[in-house]
Amino acid sequence: MADKKISPSKQSLIYCFKQIWKYRKSYLPISAINVIAGAAIPFAEIIFLPLLINAMTAPEKDLRYIITLAASMVVSQILLQAINSCVTVHLEKSADFFLNIESEEISQLCMDIDFTLTENKDALDQIKKARDGMNWSGGAHEIAKGFFTILSNAIKLFGVAAVMIANAPVLLLIIGILLAVSAFINAKKNEIDIKNFAELSNINRIFGYVCWQMEDFRYGKDIRLYSAAGMMIEKSAQQIKRLSDYWQNINDKKYPLNVLDITVGALRDFGTYLYLGFLAITGRITIGVFSQMLSAAGTLHASLQAIIMGVQDIVKRSGYMYEVIKFMEYPPAMEKGTKKVADNSKGHEIEFRNVSFTYPGSDVKVLHDVSIKLRSGERLSVVGLNGAGKTTFIKLLCRLYDVDSGEILLDGVNIREYDYEEYMKLFSVVFQDFRLLAFSAADNITLGSEESPEAIDKLFETVGLLDDINELPKGRDTMMFKQFDKEGVELSGGQQQKMAIARALYKNAPVVILDEPTAALDPVAEYEIYRQFNDLVHGKTAVYISHRLSSCKFCEHIAVFSEGTIKEYGTHDELVHKRDGIYAEMFKAQAQYYV
Ligand code: ADP
Repeated sequence: MADKKISPSKQSLIYCFKQIWKYRKSYLPISAINVIAGAAIPFAEIIFLPLLINAMTAPEKDLRYIITLAASMVVSQILLQAINSCVTVHLEKSADFFLNIESEEISQLCMDIDFTLTENKDALDQIKKARDGMNWSGGAHEIAKGFFTILSNAIKLFGVAAVMIANAPVLLLIIGILLAVSAFINAKKNEIDIKNFAELSNINRIFGYVCWQMEDFRYGKDIRLYSAAGMMIEKSAQQIKRLSDYWQNINDKKYPLNVLDITVGALRDFGTYLYLGFLAITGRITIGVFSQMLSAAGTLHASLQAIIMGVQDIVKRSGYMYEVIKFMEYPPAMEKGTKKVADNSKGHEIEFRNVSFTYPGSDVKVLHDVSIKLRSGERLSVVGLNGAGKTTFIKLLCRLYDVDSGEILLDGVNIREYDYEEYMKLFSVVFQDFRLLAFSAADNITLGSEESPEAIDKLFETVGLLDDINELPKGRDTMMFKQFDKEGVELSGGQQQKMAIARALYKNAPVVILDEPTAALDPVAEYEIYRQFNDLVHGKTAVYISHRLSSCKFCEHIAVFSEGTIKEYGTHDELVHKRDGIYAEMFKAQAQYYV
């Protein structure tokens, strides 16, 4: 859709009408009624007023004719206004409806975009621009309303211009020229807004981040302990200052244009009265036509202005909306295949072949030349010091990022060739920095899929959390954290880890990965967790990561990561006897916990 050959405004307009057609078709015929009623309103006066004045100023007055004309004018005006108002109020109800739909679509896409883009500054800016753009555009309703207002005013304009050409063509010229000048001034004002939009979006993103950190109580501990409040306040003050400087700058730039706009408006009114007064005084038009022309001039002015403003408004709004389209069409960072993953019952073999990787936006090679094979049902322990590249190895395996060189194979096929969603289903991972959501305990396990309360309790029991959950105020329905419920709870680190493990078990994927979710525990407690988990996932392929040796005893193979590559690989017995080996050294240092 983000097609360079079609202008952003046109693309946005097409996008909005597609949204309307998809979600609320009835909006279109109702808008058509509004267009016709709105366009007809001024003609009640333009048609009946000169007849009425002429009848009233005629030497012989026909009272019934006068009353009929007056009543026709008033009744038709009231009727058209009533239709227009009712329909407008009805259509306004759609404003939030479309905004919510667009907001939902953006949120959906935020969760679907390639993970690697979540660290990409341009992509993050584009998400913010899309959200701001959607709000500032007013959504599909405001853009469609603008379009229909232009249409309605165009009908009025042609009607009025026809009446005016017949009676006072020069007036058409005067009003036309001065309105063109007003339009030019407004275009300049809009240009200022749109040019500065990117900067404003950037300020808002930083400002939003700082405010969010200040309000999010999970950061409260660190903020207090490290006395970071001063720094946070200063950062937010800096952004407030940037924001106020921004608006000051915009207002300064617009000020001379505003003055010019008011002057042009005054000149236009003056010219209209002067010209029509001249025609009336010199007897070239009757008083009836004088009032008709005055009314037509008002309508012409109003509708031409409404068209010009409407076009400018729609260009501005669709410029904002275009940011949504750009986000919807954000180029994927990863190649995605279509190949189906083979049946899990046969198991899967995983292989890293000479894999190297550097994080996007960084020039440090984090993994180099990593080669390893993992048979179905095998348990692999990945050990190494912090920063050795263990988590990165897992992120690549789970396709959160793509390798730079080398390849990762699943059952002998490059993982890029598989259907992404299907491939992701192969893994249950508890990451080191897992996060629980501020939803109920049960929701944190099922993440939205239907499950019976008994099955959920069984999982809590399996991970040794059932008693703790039963003691919570609302049991499994108790909310985590206090953002949305004052009875929400903050579980201990260990309890949260068990929840994360229960979530991983619930997914029941053929490959399970524990990435140091136990780093906060002492080595013996960590060993216990790995041991229990190992019993639970019996028979599945498993990868356990730690900077300690907790999991090595019950794994068939151990891969020792150091400086971004696998320095040692083998069984515990092989590695522990290796001379000057890293593993042997680690074992010596930590042996007291595991022997
Ligand atoms: P480990 O799990 O062994 O502690 P990681 O795989 O987390 O190590 O990290 C390996 C290296 O990659 C470290 O130097 C770390 O700073 C760097 N790194 C990790 N994540 C990112 C990232 N998102 N962007 C850039 N560098 C990263």
